Amino acid sequence: MCGIVGIVGTEPVNQSLYDSLLVLQHRGQDAAGIVTCEEDKLHLRKNNGLASDVFNTDHMIRLRGNMGIGHVRYPTAGCSSSAEAQPFYVNSPYGIVLAHNGNLTNADDLKQDLFREDLRHINTESDSEILLNIFAHGLSSYPPHLTLSEEDIFRAVETVHQRCQGGYAAVAMIPGYGIIAFRDPHGIRPVVFGERDTPNGKEFMVASESVALDTLGFNLVRDVAPGEAVIITQNGEFHARQCAENPQRSPCIFEFVYFARPDSIIDDIFVHKARQRMGKKLARKIQRQWANHDIDVVIPIPDTSRTAALSLANKLGLPYTEGFIKNRYIGRTFIMPGQTARRKSVRRKLNPIDVEFKGKNVLLVDDSIVRGTTSKQIVQMAREAGANKVYLASAAPPVRYPNVYGIDMPAASELVASGRSTAEVCEIIGADKLIYQDLDDLIEAVQKKGMVKVDRFDASVFNGEYVTGDVTADYLQELESCRNDSAKNERNHTRADVIDLHNGA
Ligand code: AMP
Repeated sequence: MCGIVGIVGTEPVNQSLYDSLLVLQHRGQDAAGIVTCEEDKLHLRKNNGLASDVFNTDHMIRLRGNMGIGHVRYPTAGCSSSAEAQPFYVNSPYGIVLAHNGNLTNADDLKQDLFREDLRHINTESDSEILLNIFAHGLSSYPPHLTLSEEDIFRAVETVHQRCQGGYAAVAMIPGYGIIAFRDPHGIRPVVFGERDTPNGKEFMVASESVALDTLGFNLVRDVAPGEAVIITQNGEFHARQCAENPQRSPCIFEFVYFARPDSIIDDIFVHKARQRMGKKLARKIQRQWANHDIDVVIPIPDTSRTAALSLANKLGLPYTEGFIKNRYIGRTFIMPGQTARRKSVRRKLNPIDVEFKGKNVLLVDDSIVRGTTSKQIVQMAREAGANKVYLASAAPPVRYPNVYGIDMPAASELVASGRSTAEVCEIIGADKLIYQDLDDLIEAVQKKGMVKVDRFDASVFNGEYVTGDVTADYLQELESCRNDSAKNERNHTRADVIDLHNGA
C-alpha cells in the first residue's frame, strides 16, 4: 500500500508536501519521496525510510517550486530497494514524474510490450515505472509538438486504461505544465482532490486520503471518479474528464477495514462511521449466535480496531477498556519483512495491563486476522496477564485470498484462514472462541443503506472475486511464489548488495 499526493500552489509547496506525507505515513513506511518543479527544473529527493528520516533541512531547502508530488511506499510488487522509492522520472516526452498506489496485474506483459514494441527500458521491478512509461508512451504517440494540451493528456490516460489492468491511483507532474491525477476504471484505490483560497489565488491538492487535505487546510471537493483524470495546470486551471469506457465504482473494502485513517472520507463514506457500524454488526451477530455469552469486558487490539470495539461494547451493553498499550516508537519497517522479525515485533509493540485481564472473560477485538501471528501472541499475552477466558472477534471476515490490487496481503499459504474453518483458525490462535464478521454484514456496514455511490466493493481478500475479472489461477500461482516471505527476503538481500556496490558503501 502507498500514499500519493500532489499540490499546485501559489507559493513553495515543499513544506506542505512533507506535512502531507507525514499524514499519509500509515499507508507506507518503507520509503518516501518528493519531487518539486521550479520553472522547468525538477528537484527530487527520495530514499528508504520514514518521511521524517528521508528529508532533512538541506533537502527541503533544495525542493524549490510551487508545484510538486510526493509518495510514501509500502512495497507490494518489487522489492524494498531504495532504487524503487518513488516518484519515478522519465525524460521523454516533456519530462514526467509519477507516483503510484496500486498494483498492475499485467505488469509482466506490459514490461515486454514496452521493450519490444515501444522501445522503452524498465530498470526496476516496480510496476510504477511501467505505469509511468505506459503513460509517457501514450503522450508521445502523436506527431511531436512542444505545447502540451489537455486533449493530449486525456488521450494518454485513455491509453493507460486500455493497456493496464489492476488497481492504480496515480499522480503525475510535467514541468512547466501541471499535475495530473487518475484512478483505474474500477476506482479500487482512492484519490481525492481539494482546493483552498489564498491571498494569491486558489491552490489545489490531490491525495490518497481526505485527511491530508484537512490537515493542510484544503477543502475536500470530491473523489477523482473511477476512470477519470483531473488536470491542474501550474496556472491553477482545472480540467477533468472521464477517460474509461465502462467505469464502475468498486473500491477496495479493506481500506475501510484497516488501511485508511478513520478521519478520512473515501467515496463519500466516512471511514470512522463505517468502522462503528462494523462493531454494531458484529455485536448483533454475537447476540444472534451467542445470546448467553459470559463476556466480562471488551478490549481492543490497538489501534485500528478501537472504533469497532467501542461500538460493539456499547451495543452489547458491556464495559470497554484499554488492555494493551502500544509503543508508538517502534515499527520501523526494516525490521518487518519476514516472519521471524514480525513475530518478535508484536511483543515489542504491545504490552498488557494485567489488572484489566485478571480473572476476567475478555473479548479481544481486532480489525482483521491476516497471518494470525498477532492474534496468536495477543491471546497468549492475555492469558499470561491472568485472563480467565480469551475470546477473539474480528471486525472483518476471514482473509482467505491474496490481494492483487496493491495491498501486501501475503501468499494464500501464509493466510491463517486460507483453506481453514473458523474452528481450525481458533485452535491455531489458541482462543476459547473466535467470531468473524460476516461478509454481507461488512458490506452493509461500509455501504450504509441509501448510499448508492458504490456499485460494488472489491472484497476479493474475503471472497476470492476479483472485480477486474481478469485474475487467473496462473497469476495467483505466480504471486504465491514471489510473495511469500522467503522469496521476498531473497529479493531484498540480492538487491541490497547491488545498491551497496553502487553506493560504494
Ligand atoms: P496478523 O494476523 O498477524 O497478520 O496481523 C493482523 C493485523 O495486522 C490486523 O489486525 C491489522 O491491524 C494489521 N494488518 C492487516 N493487514 C495488513 C497488511 N497488509 N500489512 C500490515 N498490517 C496489516
